[in-house]
Amino acid sequence: MPEKSRYNIDTPSTDVLSYIYSENETPADAPIWIDADDTSNSLSLKQLLYWARRLGVGLDKLGIQQNEAVMMYTNNHIFIPVLYFAVAGSGRIFTGCNPAYGVDETSYQLENTGSKAIFVEPPYLDTVLKAAEKTGVPRDRIFLFSDRPCEAKHGIKDFRSILGSEQESSQWQWHRMTPQESKTRTAALNYSSGTTGLPKGVIVSHQNIIANVEQSIYMRNLEQPSSPSPERWLGFLPLYHAYGQLWSIVAAAITQTPCYCMRSFNYRNWLSHIQNHHITHIQTAPPILVMLAKRPETQEYDLSSLVNVLCGAAPLSKELQNEVSAKCGLKVIQTWGMTEVTCSCLHVPGGRDDRSGSVGLIDPNAEMKLINDEGQEVGPGERGEIYVRGPNITLGYWRNEQATRDAFDAEGFLKTGDVAVKDEEGWHWIVDRKKELIKVKGFQVAPAELEAVLLENEHVADAAVCAVQGEYEELPRAYVALKEGSKGRVKEEEVQKWIEGRVARHKRLDGGVRFIDEVPKSVSGKIQRKLLREWAKTDPATT
Ligand code: AMP
Repeated sequence: MPEKSRYNIDTPSTDVLSYIYSENETPADAPIWIDADDTSNSLSLKQLLYWARRLGVGLDKLGIQQNEAVMMYTNNHIFIPVLYFAVAGSGRIFTGCNPAYGVDETSYQLENTGSKAIFVEPPYLDTVLKAAEKTGVPRDRIFLFSDRPCEAKHGIKDFRSILGSEQESSQWQWHRMTPQESKTRTAALNYSSGTTGLPKGVIVSHQNIIANVEQSIYMRNLEQPSSPSPERWLGFLPLYHAYGQLWSIVAAAITQTPCYCMRSFNYRNWLSHIQNHHITHIQTAPPILVMLAKRPETQEYDLSSLVNVLCGAAPLSKELQNEVSAKCGLKVIQTWGMTEVTCSCLHVPGGRDDRSGSVGLIDPNAEMKLINDEGQEVGPGERGEIYVRGPNITLGYWRNEQATRDAFDAEGFLKTGDVAVKDEEGWHWIVDRKKELIKVKGFQVAPAELEAVLLENEHVADAAVCAVQGEYEELPRAYVALKEGSKGRVKEEEVQKWIEGRVARHKRLDGGVRFIDEVPKSVSGKIQRKLLREWAKTDPATT
């Protein structure tokens, strides 16, 4: 029998804008999104609605239809929530692209989402123009997007040029959704490779977002002694990713918590922002905990305002969790999730000082079962793949019915590809990952994508990519079979170097390249990934 969460909560069934803004209430004036480098630059809920209305009119005038996607291509800044709520709140679809992506990666997401407009920060305009040309997005659908007005560049104008007038926008009504509509309408497309293959657009409905925000806040507040001072968060998680969107946009808005936005991550700045803005809670990932534990500059800053550190997005060892807790006097609690569950689905209750390495209990209103390799459900103490069902689980993959069908079992449970063990009380530990996915610094790397790029190399006959364990985290490693004429003529390091300019930084082959005679495949032609992982275990990364 699947295990039901021990918690049940009521979650509003509506659209994301109606979730944040009540019809007859004047929105609050207090700053919510604050530029961490310049606190005079901020945005309140009232200002957000003002700008979102004007942008909503602008999108209408551009003729962008309901259910059509709009792409954001920027670093974090305080205006991103305006775009997010204006696009999703007007019945369109928000998709954020990693600004570290090159032309090919961006084109892929543009093409796949069918985005009708792109909002780009000026430093990334060249990449976006090339990707737009490749995919046929007209130049008059590209807008510069920053928190401060910008000069036109290559004829591309600031997004402020399309805003509706104050009068038009005061009459603009967003698309208020019925409960049923909020369950089926796509609000965002976040990219994930799921358990296999290339990155796919994960359909995130309005109901998914609202449910997952409510679930996460509920778990976060469980067992929580009241905070000594009002909460303040640091918004450094990228806002094109589900984790950043959930906390730094929607949860910050609904809880009216000031969120200090960092444009890009730099460890010293991060520490000084915690100290100077008296940050109380952070949502983070294991690579940051490695820095907290190992980097000497940690000691130079006063982090005593921090009450709670939530860590998810990649495996975190119990040893590292406890090292950070002890060294920094912090409560580090874990969460588990994936893009397909909107963000998270297991949490350690927020007030716990948990040192066990557990990812916690099932979120409210969700159900899980653990399934072994024989397809049987297993009980406490046994390993099984997490299957999950609940209001926060994606409707499926965008324009990919086959992948959607493959992702769910007959009872509608999502197959996650993560292997866990639970105890008698329902606490879960992640013990393995059986899907192809590699996580580098909390970011996804899809082996299939790197394999496709490697096959473009003139010397490569075949290639297979898997994770190899580095000192603190997993790294991508390629096993490459060379063409006959290339054997002895090319070095492993040359292939490693060749891929550098072709993919975003986190996808580079930092786990090394190994030449092999033949990529191991099953009779049906599938790469034997289990075998690759075995090879990688006996030949760890040296970088
Ligand atoms: P993403 O879709 O980018 O959020 O990546 C989701 C994947 O990250 C999961 O399927 C896991 O493999 C991994 N992951 C997330 N949280 C944890 C965690 N607490 N422990 C271990 N792996 C995790």
